[in-house]
Parts: sequence; C-alpha cells; structure tokens
Amino acid sequence: MSKDDETKQLNFVEEIVEDDLRTGRWYGRVVTRFPPEPNGYLHIGHAKSICLNFGIAQKYGGHTNLRFDDTNPEKEDTEYVDSIQDDIRWLGFAWHGDPLFASDYFGQLHDWAVQLIKDGKAYVDSQTLDEIRRNRGTSSSPGIESPHRDRAVDENLELFARMKAGEFPDGVHVLRAKIDMASKHLILRDPIMYRIRHAHHHRTGNAWCIYPMYDFTHGQSDSIERVTHSICTLEFENNRRLYDWYCEALDIYHPQQTEFARLNLTYTVMSKRKLLELVKDKDVSGWDDPRMPTLCGLRRRGYTPEAIRQFCERIGVTRFNGMTDLVVLENALRDDLNKRAERRMAVLNPLKVVIENYPEGQVDELPAINNPEDESAGSRVVPFSRELYIERDDFMEDAPKKFFRLAPGREVRLRYAYYLKCESVIKDEAGEIVELRCTYDPATKGGSSPDGRKDKATLHWVSAKHAVDAEIRLYDHLFQQEDANDVPEGADWKSNLNPASLEVLSAAKLEPSLADAEPGFRCQFERLGYFCVDAKDSTREHLVFNRAVTLRDAWAKMAKGK
Ligand code: ATP
Ligand code: MG
Repeated sequence: MSKDDETKQLNFVEEIVEDDLRTGRWYGRVVTRFPPEPNGYLHIGHAKSICLNFGIAQKYGGHTNLRFDDTNPEKEDTEYVDSIQDDIRWLGFAWHGDPLFASDYFGQLHDWAVQLIKDGKAYVDSQTLDEIRRNRGTSSSPGIESPHRDRAVDENLELFARMKAGEFPDGVHVLRAKIDMASKHLILRDPIMYRIRHAHHHRTGNAWCIYPMYDFTHGQSDSIERVTHSICTLEFENNRRLYDWYCEALDIYHPQQTEFARLNLTYTVMSKRKLLELVKDKDVSGWDDPRMPTLCGLRRRGYTPEAIRQFCERIGVTRFNGMTDLVVLENALRDDLNKRAERRMAVLNPLKVVIENYPEGQVDELPAINNPEDESAGSRVVPFSRELYIERDDFMEDAPKKFFRLAPGREVRLRYAYYLKCESVIKDEAGEIVELRCTYDPATKGGSSPDGRKDKATLHWVSAKHAVDAEIRLYDHLFQQEDANDVPEGADWKSNLNPASLEVLSAAKLEPSLADAEPGFRCQFERLGYFCVDAKDSTREHLVFNRAVTLRDAWAKMAKGK
C-alpha cells in the first residue's frame, strides 16, 4: 500500500472489504471480477467499474477475473471480445489467468437447472412470453400462477431435456424458478431461467439451443470462480434477491453482491445500445470516433490511461446516482498532459506575415523550451525567417483598444523570437486580408524587451518555408444538452446530437519538428490546447491531429462572463 492509499479516505466498497478482512469472512481472500457482455465496446463508465474492481484486488492483494457475460447469442461478437481485452490492457490492468466466459459454464448451469427441477424448485412453463408477462402482476397486485406450475418433476425433466434437444421452436416453453407469484419483489415471481433460442453463439456455435438468463448465470459464474466481492451497478440491487436465492437453493459457494452508482457524464450517452446505433447509422465514424465516450474513442482523441484512472479516482465510488460534469474528465487530461506533453507551435488558421526588414534567405535557429513544467524535457530549435504564419484570429484591422494582439501600427512579441510590428495590410480583390507587411526589432531576440517597453501579448507563429502542412480536427460535445438523454416528449433521442461536434481545418501549418510525429504522439500546441496524431488517418504525407482538449475550460470562462 502506498502512502497516498493510507491517508486517503476509504470508499464504501473498500470499507466492506476491510471489514471482511478483519472478520475473516472470506479467509483473507479478495477476488473480484469484471463481467462485460461482449455486445459493444467499453466506455468511460466501464472504466469506473474496471478501476474499482481491479483497484480493490490490487490494493488488498487479491485478483480480478475478466469474465465475458456471453449469454445472448444474437448480440455478441468476437470483435467485441477482442476490443474489450485491448481496452483493459491499455487502461493498465491485468486480469487473472486467461479470460473466462460464462458460456464455458453452460454445462454446469444446465446441470444446476436439472437439480432445481428435481428439488421441485423449477418447472417448464408453456405459456407464451406475453402471457407470462401479463400474469406477473404489478407492484400493487400479485401475479397469477401458471397452469403448468405444478407439473410433475418427471414431466418437467422430460420437457426440459426435449427443449435442450431442439424439439421445440423458440418461445414454446421456458424453464422457470418456482419461488412465489405473490412476492412483493416482482423479480421473485417465478423468474425465467432458460429460454429456447435457435441461434448461433460466437463461442459455443450450435451446441446449445437453450440459453440461461442473466440472473441464472451471473451469481453462479461468480460462485464457480470463488469470487468474494461481486460489485455491480445500482440497477441490479433488486436482482440481488434472486442472486442470493439461486445460491441458496443450489447450496453453492455464495459471493456477496454489492452495488455502486454507475457513471453518467454530461453531453454524452453511456448506453451501448445507443452507441451502437450511432455507429450503425454513421452519425460517427465508428466505435473509435474521437467524439465517442468509448475507451478506444478517448484513446484516439488523445486521452492517456493515467488521466482516465485519475478521473475515476477523483469521482470516487458512492451509492447515489448522479451526473458527472464532463469537465472533470477533461481536467484530468489537462493535468496529466500539462506535466508530460511537450510544447510545440502550430497555426490552425494561417495568415501570412512578411517581415520587410528581415534579410531574404536568412534563418535564425531559435531555442524553444519543450516543457516549462519539466526541465528534463530540454529544448529544441525552431527556425525563424522572413515569411511567417500567424493565427488569423490574432490580427484585427480595426482593433478596439482592448484587443492586445496584432493590429496596424501595433506591436506584439513572437514567442521565442522578436517583437513584430504591423506596418500595412494586403487584401485580395474580394477585400479579404491575405498578407501582413511587418517589421521586426532585431534588438529583441528571444522575445526580451531591452529598452523597457511595455509588456506585449505573445503570439505563436511558424516559419512559412519550414512549415509542415496538417489537417486538424477540432471536437466539441457530441450532444447539445447537458443531459444528453433529455429530449422533448416524442422527439428522437438523436435530435439532441450536436451538428457542430466536428470541425476540420485542412490548411494548418506546423513547426518542422512535427514532420515525423508518429500516430498517437501527443503535444501541446502553444495557446491552443493538447493535440494527438490520429492513429488511424494520419500518414507521413498527410498529417492529421486531433484536438484532445483545449487549454482551459471555455464554457466555465463564458459562464464567468470573461
Ligand atoms: P447494457 O448497457 O447493454 O446494459 P452495460 O453497460 O451494463 O450493458 P456490461 O457489459 O454488462 O454493460 O457492463 C460490464 C460491467 O460494467 C458491469 O459490471 C456494469 O455494472 C459496469 N458498467 C456498465 N456501465 C457502467 C457505468 N456507466 N458506470 C459504471 N459501471 C458501469
Ligand atoms: Mg449489463
């Protein structure tokens, strides 16, 4: 345990684990599991669960299983099995042994179902799914018992065997637990254990045509794996009654289920169904679109595993559902990259500058600091010459007094270089500014002001003849509303998508040291934000940078009226 861990307040799950260690409830063992269904890519909400499950096991000397909860043959795919493993590794966690699959327990689960039938605790129901739903009752009225509820054990065994043998089409029979149709907990009103699905499974192929329900799989899988702490999200609080009932009825090793609040983030959605729809409908370029809340999307955008782990640490673990501000996630990345990312200069919307008193053909090699937060990052040289690019936004022809950047007759400091004064403006026939004619002050090399002139705004710039071309992708919120799921009655949930979530700038100019930036390379473009070379679309010939995050939270600034 590190010093940090010792002084930090425990979250409520850690408290439970420490209590159990004290009382010897699990004989000192700590075994957790992360149980994704392979029906989509992992997102930032899963990261919260991963950090909690793996974090607890690491902290208390236990281990964590990765178990694919693959009981829905229609929706699952090996593409997801692979991506989930990649993402967990990328986040920095290692599971115990090989990945496990609930489908590997199908044989055992089947035998346990037979055991419950023999014990008179399960029966084959031949009502339609509709009838079963209708007869379940409501929270204020009891359910109605199925006419098949009292089938003889032998008949149940025979029917279940024939279900398994594929003699019936989908939906003709189900196997149900015989609990209590009048229970005040709807989940205990004879829940379905098995249904018939003539479907190909991504791992078991056509071996099975009956598939166990989530509730008849999950607890038993935990039990088989000798999990101690089965940590899941609050929606499963009710399911715990059933989790406990199955473990007790089967008289098997019985882990403890504990629920925590799932993560909801502003301006995005966390439902895999919705994320899949965005991918299928091509509202985004794929699961790894940098606007997606998926781990592969965040990674491509420029997020680091350290920032995501730090975010999960900061939000903590509670039992109250709420909404976390996206800014908390962005700030975790800012804090991480501020320490680690080297600074570079890039001009996103270039405006040409010609320095009339700078000799043609001359080049100054100016030293530039790589990271003011990290001396060991050293420095590099950037070339300065007669023709430069500056940011279009940094110039105004009719500038108000409060505009401190470049304007006709005004002077600014060029980062690492010289003072620069704008002498005149050149426009094209349409009246658009195409070039600035300027002069520089050779006595200000390095950006110093030797004669005590008033401090100037500092602009970033790139030498025109040395510049590297690049495409820059700027991202904004994927959804317009803070609560992305909040759409007006009757409106499509997608009506809330932000049409301006991606802006592509195709004529950016970068300092030459970026010419061979590798995919995944991250840096700060001075004054602009943190950027990352796109891992998919960037090539040597056509560099593509994603903006991971701006330098500051622009929305907070606006709110303060600045
Ligand atoms: P679906 O949206 O299809 O119901 P899911 O988001 O629950 O699925 P799973 O693959 O079942 O996805 O999730 C694996 C684990 O991740 C579960 O233990 C679940 O509790 C946890 N998890 C999923 N979403 C979140 C979230 N938003 N916050 C915290 N944990 C989550
Ligand atoms: Mg789930």
